[in-house]
Amino acid sequence: MRYTGPKCRQCRREGEKLFLKGDRCESQKCAFLKKNYAPGLHGQGFKKMTEYARQLREKQKAKRIFGLSEKQFSGYNTKAGAQKELTAGDALMQNLETRIDNVIYRSGMAFSRVQARQFVSHGLCTLNGKKIKTPSIQVKVGDKFAIKNAFQKNEIFAELKKAKVKVPTWIKVNMPTLSGEVMEMPTQKDFEQSINVQPIIEFYSR
Ligand code: SF4
Repeated sequence: MRYTGPKCRQCRREGEKLFLKGDRCESQKCAFLKKNYAPGLHGQGFKKMTEYARQLREKQKAKRIFGLSEKQFSGYNTKAGAQKELTAGDALMQNLETRIDNVIYRSGMAFSRVQARQFVSHGLCTLNGKKIKTPSIQVKVGDKFAIKNAFQKNEIFAELKKAKVKVPTWIKVNMPTLSGEVMEMPTQKDFEQSINVQPIIEFYSR
């Protein structure tokens, strides 16, 4: 099952900020600034990490960043292993980055991946002119996405238009019309930099 509990707890568990709550994460209200140790009774105790624990933690972190369940995440790993044109690590990251909810987030049309997922599943987005409701849809080069006209007046999008987001070069965005296009497939330079994919591949190949 996908984790739906407190988001800040996940950052504390992983020992780093995972930016799961949008603009709050950049503010002084970020829970990690006050409690940057693991939750629970033994959260502040020192623990030497085994190789297995290191791989597990990296996998858990990636899963949390993209908001996926274990079943979904291991499915991505299996799929990546079958893609012979890329290394397993690159294929895994590319498949995660090209989920439509991630694309909406990366384009600056949502403050967080969680919010982008909601926008998609609540029917606020279109892909190639058609309404979509499945956050896991994979985009491909040439795909055009947008926020539906009916929702563009919503004040959250007015705020998003004012936010300064660095959009990666593999996506072209037109913020005034809340629309965009996938120009190329993301590569290593575009992948979520806080994830070290190698231990994740090692974890699943044990
Ligand atoms: Fe993590 Fe954001 Fe919560 Fe800070 S505010 S602990 S970065 S989810």
